[in-house]
Amino acid sequence: MAKLYFRYGAMNSGKSTALLQAAYNYEERGHQVLLAKPGIDTKAGRAIQSRLGFDRDVDFMVGEGQDAYALFQQHRAHVQTESGRDVSCLLVDESQFLSAGQVNDLLRIATLDSIPVICYGIRTDFQTAAFPGSRRLLEIAHSLEELKTICRCGRKAIFNARSVDGVFTFDGAQVAIDGVEVGYESLCAACYLRESGGHLTR
Ligand SMILES: [Zn+2]
Repeated sequence: MAKLYFRYGAMNSGKSTALLQAAYNYEERGHQVLLAKPGIDTKAGRAIQSRLGFDRDVDFMVGEGQDAYALFQQHRAHVQTESGRDVSCLLVDESQFLSAGQVNDLLRIATLDSIPVICYGIRTDFQTAAFPGSRRLLEIAHSLEELKTICRCGRKAIFNARSVDGVFTFDGAQVAIDGVEVGYESLCAACYLRESGGHLTR
């Protein structure tokens, strides 16, 4: 049996870079991998973008309400036909945007098909509440690993503060509406509380 992994971190903790590095490591040893991400992440389209300047398109997007298990099997069959080899790993970026049911699908891939599934994502939104995919991953992943990044004060950042036009904002939808110029900064709990006036989830 293979494992379902959740590698989570605040914004700018290098999750996409780590994912692309993991894909490279597999491929360098002659293995086949599949890359996926939820369809909701529309800003980058099909690309997984590393802040270090390289990017790569995913093999498939998991749209809202789609069966991630069936999608994986479809693309796995394509790899088998093309390369004559099975898939060694499924890598999922922006996994916080998956539904709970889609995370369950990923557990089935790891468990029933013995193919490791490594999910990268943000644990909580700008109001410190778990995203749906992250919550389910925290509940059922075999392995949890934190990717660390640093707050402006030098402590470990765990929260993602949202800013609009350079001003922190603590109200609004979990996923920012396209067209609104929104920024995020990874903060430690102390800095978050100072900026929010002492509030966590509203
Ligand atoms: Zn801080």
